[in-house]
Amino acid sequence: MKVKNAKFVISAVSPKQYPDSNLLEVAFAGRSNVGKSSLINALLGRKRLAYSGSKQGMTRQINYYNLDDEIHFVDLPGYGFAAVSKSEKNLWGKVITDYLNVRPQLYLVLMLVDIRHKPSKDDENMYQWILNSGIDYLVVATKADKLSKQQARNNAQIIRNTLQIPPEKDIICVSAEKRTGIDKLWEAIDRYIIEEDDEAENNQKGEEEK
Ligand code: GDP
Repeated sequence: MKVKNAKFVISAVSPKQYPDSNLLEVAFAGRSNVGKSSLINALLGRKRLAYSGSKQGMTRQINYYNLDDEIHFVDLPGYGFAAVSKSEKNLWGKVITDYLNVRPQLYLVLMLVDIRHKPSKDDENMYQWILNSGIDYLVVATKADKLSKQQARNNAQIIRNTLQIPPEKDIICVSAEKRTGIDKLWEAIDRYIIEEDDEAENNQKGEEEK
């Protein structure tokens, strides 16, 4: 998708604030500092529309961006702050799982992991929640410019083994800084949009034929 007009909609702190809209949603999940805001900006061709907030107290915030009134990008709260309390951590879990389970218009989750690091326990939890939700997902390894091609391949394998990503599922390596992999990622997102639109059309036809 070639985005002409991207705008910030809301920082929702409770499900009541999620936009009352049927636009399809693509959600972004990953630990804090993984490069989530940078990737969203790179996909939108913008410098600073998305930004990572100050580190504490952001555990419950879900940021919505509207892309040409066609889809919403949904920036889920980053995780992995060393200093957060247990209750804050539980809250984060609840915010994420609530969101994954209540949004029928959510059709794709991008699970971001830093190409340089073995996924953390929080990453493993996040990945399990995505699997449990049954929603389609893509695994995206960020900051690919920081490693050689060979190192990136090796690390992608470590990510695959740690999260137990099935062999048929690609890991898409991107660099927001160098813009590598961004077109490939858009192509992958677009494929899901087309599939989802076809499905909606078929459902509608089915309804009309009844
Ligand atoms: P967030 O907390 O997940 O939203 O992460 P940010 O997008 O704020 O990025 C965290 C840090 O990683 C910042 O210092 C970015 O400049 C840096 N960063 C993000 N993406 C890339 C990338 O593709 N390559 C490099 N080298 N650094 C990146």
